[in-house]
Amino acid sequence: MEYIAETEKLWGSICARYKPGHIEIAGVISSQIIGLIIPATVYVLLDVFLPSFSRMHKIQSERRQPTWPQIWHCMQVSMFNQLWIIGLHALAIYWIGFDHSFIWMDPRLPSLKTLIIDFLFGMAASEVMFYYVHRALHHPSIYVYIHKMHHKYTAPISFAAEYAHPIEHFIANVLLIVLPLTLKGTHFLSLMAFSVFEFYQAAADHSGYDFFKLPSASIYDLHHEKFRVNYSTLEIMDRIHGTDIVVWDRSSQQDVRKFKNKGQKEE
Ligand SMILES: [Zn+2]
Ligand SMILES: [Zn+2]
Repeated sequence: MEYIAETEKLWGSICARYKPGHIEIAGVISSQIIGLIIPATVYVLLDVFLPSFSRMHKIQSERRQPTWPQIWHCMQVSMFNQLWIIGLHALAIYWIGFDHSFIWMDPRLPSLKTLIIDFLFGMAASEVMFYYVHRALHHPSIYVYIHKMHHKYTAPISFAAEYAHPIEHFIANVLLIVLPLTLKGTHFLSLMAFSVFEFYQAAADHSGYDFFKLPSASIYDLHHEKFRVNYSTLEIMDRIHGTDIVVWDRSSQQDVRKFKNKGQKEE
């Protein structure tokens, strides 16, 4: 328990030394680096340094994978999306004053029970809200204008998690994750931990690899491959609404589980 006391002391000294607005911006930048940029870079580098391992664990076949120029383009757009969100956030804090923050700052650490409740609340909220927002984005009158961009990569890579139209990026990738917990009055550290977790989930879901992800990344990967299936990432809402079945194959009951059981190898 000594490390908890040490962590609390460190966190208390950070709160005493820096303004809440500065801490919030630093936290947001750090969570994106830790949760998304580092793991996404590692996933991309697997192809370079461990090509046979990479091929063995790719969900989709070699011929469907993006080319290096396409990967580079995806990384650039993804980084740009992260930068403008950070810029907007910093501007909003500048507007309210750096003595304030949007997220609740408390010099004490959140308890383990609070942390668990926050995670469960955040996961439930994002599963439900992301499902309906994502299905709305697939509506024919909206899809071509906004969500089509995110579906450019039918065999996704991690950075494709944030390859999206600005409106989609702001609503689906940012607001749906931070708003429920911010409104709940969640502790800053709890929200940062949840953000890192969600960023990693998104990176792993789009990684194109079949490891280090529960539930399996192959579930959401199939959404990028087939479009009209598996809109949510935990698959709970898809099971409730029957969208865990490939719609056009429903008569033959060829559901997603068959794809999963095939080991996702197409050839
Ligand atoms: Zn996606
Ligand atoms: Zn989609």
